[in-house]
Amino acid sequence: MLCFATNNQHKIQEARAHIGPRFHLVGLSEIGCNEELPEDQSTLEGNSFQKAEYVFRNFGVSCFADDTGLEVEALHGAPGVYSARYAGDQRNADDNIKLLLKNLESANNRKARFRTVITLITPSLTKQFEGIVNGIIINEYRGSGGFGYDPVFLPDGYVKTLAEMSMEEKNTISHRALAITKLVDFVKQQTDIS
Ligand code: IMP
Repeated sequence: MLCFATNNQHKIQEARAHIGPRFHLVGLSEIGCNEELPEDQSTLEGNSFQKAEYVFRNFGVSCFADDTGLEVEALHGAPGVYSARYAGDQRNADDNIKLLLKNLESANNRKARFRTVITLITPSLTKQFEGIVNGIIINEYRGSGGFGYDPVFLPDGYVKTLAEMSMEEKNTISHRALAITKLVDFVKQQTDIS
């Protein structure tokens, strides 16, 4: 059994689609973990490790946890690990985008990337996987799909923002999908996970 340390059913479904039927993938509720996971580190690496380690230590199951941030070059990597609450603890996507566009008002450099870090912990190892999608922040909202910063993120080499793509399309290029693909390739070679 492998636990994805999240309560987000959408993320669990996405991971299941990548991982296939060979592994028994469960979420936090299925291992009886109903508490909020600690997540107070200052890096994506630190947060994903902290969440996975908490679950491994308290529930004794092999598990992985993810953490994602939008890293904007002109803002020296901000909002980064603070992406969810960039404009405040209300964690509102629209407020976050408005603040981002305001902070980029006078910036010519619009380069940004989404970066996901996944930490896997099993009885025999701890390993991290990274997925990155590069792009630019545009000045207008385009599209109604996805979530978070998707309407203003135009991936390099594409004419559609992440919010204009179908879920399938986004899932083939996204930072999270890339990190999950690396994780799955690795997990398939392990003998102590089933
Ligand atoms: P989390 O670590 O997956 O919870 O992501 C933290 C924050 O990053 C989210 O609340 C969003 O603001 C942003 N984010 C993560 N993934 C995406 C994405 O695929 N599109 C847009 N924003 C995202």
